[in-house]
Amino acid sequence: MRRLLVALAATALTLAGTAVAAQAAPAPGGPGVGDSYFPDYGNSGYDVSHYDIRLRYTPATDRLTGTTTILATATQDLSRFNLDFVLDVSSVLVNNRPATFARQGDHELVVTPARPVSDDGAMTIVVQYSGVPSSKVAANFTAWIRTPDGAMAIGEPEIAWWWYPSNDHPTDKATFDVSVSVPTGVEAVSNGVMPRPPVRETLGYTRWSWRSLKPQATYLTFMTIGQYDVTTDTTASGQPVYNAYSQLLSQELREAAQSSVERTAEITDWETTVFGPYPFEARGGVVAPPGTLCCALENQTRPNYASSFFTRGANTSVIVHENAHQWFGDSVSVADWRHIWLNEGFASYAEWLWSERNGEGTAQEIFDYLYATYPAGASIWTTAPADPGVAELFGDAVYDRGAMTLHQLRLAVGDDDFFAILRTWAAEHRYGNATTEQFTALAEKISGQDLDALFQAWLYTPAKPVVATTLARTAPAAPKSWARISHTHDLLHRR
Ligand SMILES: [Zn+2]
Repeated sequence: MRRLLVALAATALTLAGTAVAAQAAPAPGGPGVGDSYFPDYGNSGYDVSHYDIRLRYTPATDRLTGTTTILATATQDLSRFNLDFVLDVSSVLVNNRPATFARQGDHELVVTPARPVSDDGAMTIVVQYSGVPSSKVAANFTAWIRTPDGAMAIGEPEIAWWWYPSNDHPTDKATFDVSVSVPTGVEAVSNGVMPRPPVRETLGYTRWSWRSLKPQATYLTFMTIGQYDVTTDTTASGQPVYNAYSQLLSQELREAAQSSVERTAEITDWETTVFGPYPFEARGGVVAPPGTLCCALENQTRPNYASSFFTRGANTSVIVHENAHQWFGDSVSVADWRHIWLNEGFASYAEWLWSERNGEGTAQEIFDYLYATYPAGASIWTTAPADPGVAELFGDAVYDRGAMTLHQLRLAVGDDDFFAILRTWAAEHRYGNATTEQFTALAEKISGQDLDALFQAWLYTPAKPVVATTLARTAPAAPKSWARISHTHDLLHRR
């Protein structure tokens, strides 16, 4: 009898195996999306639509506890999948059933659901966790920034790993709810709008809630916690403005920062006249305590700025730059980190346009000055902006040569077509991802010109392009805006 049962069971297993094989067995998702520079960033096998991040943070101990709920859809029959995360996980539920989980490498959390998820099936993933983010090292560093009175989760491309589990690549955008409970009297700022004012909880904590209504990349989602003074306003078009200034700024720095950041609505309104409609639901800026943040980051709806941008007084260039990223970088995001000049070249060129608009030097004058003054052999000439490599991801070729490329395009196609190209680019890829090849194709389509030689020389060749019109000129004077733009870029490149 026993023997017969075993035989029957074996037959059943064989049949089941055959049936499953015919439908293709559920397979593991991959540990990366296949980015050419960061192959294990993000994951494959599913697509996230929403993150609900609910946290408690205590500045005195840097202790973060939280629950993140992820709404996702499987893009294959999925036996297991990865999240990118470094804090200590206590439980994972997938569709309300406990899942097993294990660490792999320095930032992968491998989750095996109790039951496979079928292709196109909905997944609700609930991850509970805690930890001291400043103690976690991954990719050989700690992106989380602890400050004298709080912390900042701000970084590119790595930051999400230190505060919420995610599919950490710009190709998987999602909407976000970020809610964090902090000791009463401490401010907690994030992206988007506040669906409700801060709410007092028990034991001296207050919960701050933020919501991003438009698709947002994981690295552009931020959290800044500390003692901040807040200003609020509403733009002429009715959008909320929320700015925050660290209380640790000296009066001088505070005044210079405020003279810059308070102009965000004016500057973004000007940018809409150049790039088309503002893509998001809110505006603002946050200025960090001195000596904490190295640079600035174009966090969606609300960039964060190091105080060092304002040591020489007001600096509108950095406001123009980070907010130009709302169109180029945040709304139209890279499909692969290799295409980073589509973010930085465009945001840098916005600074040139702002200079031109304010009579502080035309884009042509800035181009001529850069072309003449960058020495032969400098990385700007030896690096191809369209494929800078990880080491030059935030280098001069990406920023300045990227902007110079756009200026050469403008000269080749004329102002009407050039600005039509920028606006069409922002509109056609709004809330999506794009590549350099898509941009050059669009430029050729709108202008009706063959621009292959121009883009080959400026984007793809690691050598100084020849420009006939400036060859006769020697050492042009620095445009009035250049000291401010170069100060801004020196700080931006230090990322
Ligand atoms: Zn930038």
